[in-house]
Amino acid sequence: MTVTIDHALYRRLFAGVNEQGYSLDGWTRAPWTPELRAAEQLVIDAAVAGGMVYEHDPAGNLWITDPNAPADGLIAVGSHLDTVPKGGAFDGVLGVVGGLVAVLALRAAGVPNVERLAVISFADEEGSRFNTPCFGSRTMVGMFGDEVADAQDKDGISIRDVGPKRPADAAGLQRRIAAYVEIHVEQGLALDPAEVSLGIATSLSARGRWEWGVVGEANHAGTTPMAGRRDALVRAAEFVLSVQRTAIAHDGAVATVGRITPWPGGTNVVPGRCSGTLDVRALNNATRDAVVQALVEEFPDIAIEHKSTDDAAIFDPALIADLHAAANELGVSSMDLPSYAGHDAGTLALAGVPSVMIFTRSPNGISHNPVEHSDESVCLDAVAVLAAALAQRS
Ligand SMILES: [Zn+2]
Repeated sequence: MTVTIDHALYRRLFAGVNEQGYSLDGWTRAPWTPELRAAEQLVIDAAVAGGMVYEHDPAGNLWITDPNAPADGLIAVGSHLDTVPKGGAFDGVLGVVGGLVAVLALRAAGVPNVERLAVISFADEEGSRFNTPCFGSRTMVGMFGDEVADAQDKDGISIRDVGPKRPADAAGLQRRIAAYVEIHVEQGLALDPAEVSLGIATSLSARGRWEWGVVGEANHAGTTPMAGRRDALVRAAEFVLSVQRTAIAHDGAVATVGRITPWPGGTNVVPGRCSGTLDVRALNNATRDAVVQALVEEFPDIAIEHKSTDDAAIFDPALIADLHAAANELGVSSMDLPSYAGHDAGTLALAGVPSVMIFTRSPNGISHNPVEHSDESVCLDAVAVLAAALAQRS
């Protein structure tokens, strides 16, 4: 069987989606906006032209399926069409457009069980507007209930106002999916130095967010001698340096203090209090927790408050093997690659759906930025590898 990838269709859809929400300083398609709907419509039109049907589930995820799709056992591909504010052209788009082009190629080739192939464009993956990352997949697997629709953006507009009213009605739909594969632009710089085109994701990192606060004593910047000062910002600085040291000391861990707020914030006042954030990621949950525990023990005077954690997601070994085999057969270089970002594929994997991701080599390693890039030839290689791997499964 010959599977032919329609390069012209890929180009047309990729360019068309990226005409939506474009400005000189990047792409902005927030969820449930006209830009996002226009991008979805282009994908829908191409799918319908290829004989497929579509529907939005109660969480706003777009499902593109065969008219005779079975109730379960779907082999799904996809990603998301929303972006961060002023983001890049590849994050999300590549997985939806590339996934659809792969599925249409398999349909045209007449693979058996073609009715099992589906494309999903997940709603609000970035979560930038309402601070609800992976909204669509998390609602689907039951991690978010209907109350998530109360989340408000900075203007006080809620998800319920512009998007799904009862998103939790989508809960359990992941049980329709027997396998999920997401093509995504690499976010990091591992593939280019190795001169490898595709990274096959083995896992998504364990992640967590904390907030911390330290109390000192605010006092006059001139009349308070250096000896005996209780400068909260100086103590916070020691903490930040230790965050760096501690992460380096734990294999595969990264840790970041991204925001720090001294109080009262006067030029001539010794800071009396200081608060900040802490983001820790690691290849497994135990390492992530060990980093935080080491900080808790080193800084008994700093209150470290847990905000959220996401456990490590392990991708499906059979899917990983299938993709490497398909790449090998097509002469496309590939290597295993863990990921340190959050993705819908990770949400599905944690919910027990066999899942995997294909990362496309990024020459600069930059993402969530208009300079985000993958060469078109690499993107089309990923589509071909995806189609070849799915041809074996369908
Ligand atoms: Zn993404």
